[in-house]
Amino acid sequence: MTPFLLLAFLVGLCVGSFLNVVIYRLPRGLSIVAPRSFCPGCGRPLRWFENIPLLSFLWLRGRCRTCRKPISWRYPLVEGLCGVMAVYFLKNYGISIQAAIPYLLTLLLIAASFIDLEHGIIPDQITLGGLLAGLGLSPFSPFLSPREALVGAFCGAGAFYLLGAYYFWIRGREGLGEGDYKLLAMIGGFLGPLNLIPIVFLASVWGLFITLLVALVRRERLSGGKSLPFGPFLSLGAITLLIYPKVATFLFPPIY
Ligand SMILES: [Zn+2]
Repeated sequence: MTPFLLLAFLVGLCVGSFLNVVIYRLPRGLSIVAPRSFCPGCGRPLRWFENIPLLSFLWLRGRCRTCRKPISWRYPLVEGLCGVMAVYFLKNYGISIQAAIPYLLTLLLIAASFIDLEHGIIPDQITLGGLLAGLGLSPFSPFLSPREALVGAFCGAGAFYLLGAYYFWIRGREGLGEGDYKLLAMIGGFLGPLNLIPIVFLASVWGLFITLLVALVRRERLSGGKSLPFGPFLSLGAITLLIYPKVATFLFPPIY
């Protein structure tokens, strides 16, 4: 690994550390800038050496020094993901808007997914804020024009209604939340209308695969009442497309 990519990884880890603050505080209505980081178990403010991405978690062996409560595995996971994705985009696109825009979208998707997993909601600050960012950045985007971004956002919201109707048809109950259609509108605003089709398809494949895996591990019957939130699957679908854009043409080859 070159020094440049190592630096990208370290900066990505710090971005992930900040994203963890957003994931913890935003759905709880707490300020993101103040106070300093604290232990969610006992509320004690963290010293600098307890707040180093990845290393502190390893050094503390995943427990708070005072109250011994376990630290969520989400902290090192989010930090690691943000570091690896920073390396991926910078390695492929260099320091450019072409790297920055998909990285920003990835961060929004990671935050949305982990908040959805824990709380079953996706805050508007992420989806609608992200939608505005996607539309605002579209004049500089190498992927699409501002008009395509706008159409993408509308198609994303519209596709939700179709998805919701489909889910209602197969499961006989509401399965998609309001946050899901705002999330899909945000993805459409960043990536345009045509990419929504492979993303929703990939999300369904991930959803099926992970639901089966979870059912196998927990030895539950699939017809069990509790369903997983769909937001993380949509995010996984979008991130799969960002990492491997060829999957779009592989799944849906141009017909002319
Ligand atoms: Zn503690």
